[in-house]
Amino acid sequence: MQRVVCPGSFDPVTNGHLDIVSRAAGLYDEVVVAVLINITKRTLFTVDERVEMLREVTKSYGNVHVERFHGLLVDFCAANGITAVVKGLRAVSDFEYEMQMAQMNYRLAKVETLFMTTNPLYSFLRSSLVKDVARYGGDVSGLVPDYVLERLRARLAED
Ligand code: ADP
Repeated sequence: MQRVVCPGSFDPVTNGHLDIVSRAAGLYDEVVVAVLINITKRTLFTVDERVEMLREVTKSYGNVHVERFHGLLVDFCAANGITAVVKGLRAVSDFEYEMQMAQMNYRLAKVETLFMTTNPLYSFLRSSLVKDVARYGGDVSGLVPDYVLERLRARLAED
């Protein structure tokens, strides 16, 4: 059985993330979406909220599971029988950092990283940009799942 991981912050999950997760789910037996717990990073949604939203928007995929992790991704992989990381590549700007991470993870624990090219519909999309646009009243419908859109609007209205 081939189990892979799609790691990230997912603050919040966007249609760009979902595109990669759903394509990975079509290729591998099981996809674990792993939400990074990073207490030093200020996030709009708590880890629990991010996990809950991811579970809701991936519930139609029978082979996708959502977990959280902290520390080294390679340790999470070893503990969960995961042999490879699947990442989306948006632009050349992603490449340098992702290549370093991939090579480090291979060196640490022989964990492979597989890159998928982004869907051109979402190549400009990142969570931080979605939050910035939404914060100033811009329309981000179609860029995040409707469930997330509601949660985003509600959270920003609290501020
Ligand atoms: P971001 O804030 O950039 O969305 P994340 O840490 O949540 O950051 O993203 C996790 C991973 O999801 C990224 O490393 C990348 O592999 C992938 N990803 C994010 N957005 C997209 C997108 N629009 N298209 C393809 N892959 C994406």
